[in-house]
Formats: sequence, structure tokens, C-alpha cells
Amino acid sequence: MKELKKLLDEKEVKPTFQRLSILKYLEENREHPTADMIYEYIREKVPTISKTTVYNTVHKFLEKGLIKELTITGQEARYDFVTDSHHHFLCEKCGTIYDIDINCPHGLPGQNMVRGHKVEEIHGYFKGICKNCLQKN
Ligand code: ZN
Ligand code: MN
Repeated sequence: MKELKKLLDEKEVKPTFQRLSILKYLEENREHPTADMIYEYIREKVPTISKTTVYNTVHKFLEKGLIKELTITGQEARYDFVTDSHHHFLCEKCGTIYDIDINCPHGLPGQNMVRGHKVEEIHGYFKGICKNCLQKN
């Protein structure tokens, strides 16, 4: 919790109990939750919290670069505590989103250009059937 408080301080986000709880949840749960999933979990710990507060907090974290947003499902935003550039794999059977740490042939964001454009973000989205689901069949 102390480290998380430092993270918020560094980004000049006031470390309220609610914000710390949300950031802690994201740190501990790496399954790339939606804002609704965060809300469902947080309201058990902090029953007074509203959905709006959770949404606003998530957007504040996003704006400050504390978390990343994935649009891999095409239907809902998912949130990632890991802000270093990495790719993702979505299992179309069970819906799990895996981190895929491979060297991206396109380099690292912020360091390269494409057709004269400066690249600031790179998202690699793979979709298919995950190893767990493959084993079940
Ligand atoms: Zn699966
Ligand atoms: Mn990730």
C-alpha cells in the first residue's frame, strides 16, 4: 500500500482510500478487469463507493499513465496495471486475456517512427484458443 501511495503521489493524484483500494485491486488482479469488475469487487470492501467514482478513478489513472487500457475484445475497455509495452492474447472460448511477452518487431513505443509518423503506443492483440482450453478438448 505504501508503494502504491508513492505511485499516486508521483503523479499528483491525491491518495484517497478509494483510489488506493482501486489501484491495489488492479495491482493484485492481473486478469485485465473491466471497470464493472473493479466496481463489483471494490464495493465489497468499500460499500459506500459508487460506480461513477470507480469509472472516474479509472479514467484518472489512465490519464496519468498509472494504468493502460486494452480494447482487445472490441466490446469493453479492460484495464492493465502493467504499463510497460506488452502484447495480449484473448481466448475466444473462455475470455481470458493473457500477457504475451515477446519482442515486438516494431520496436518500442516512443522510440520509433512508421512512414514518418512518431509511434507513441503499440498494441499487439492475438486472438484464438488458449492453452488451457486446448487441453480440455
Ligand atoms: Zn481459454
Ligand atoms: Mn497485460
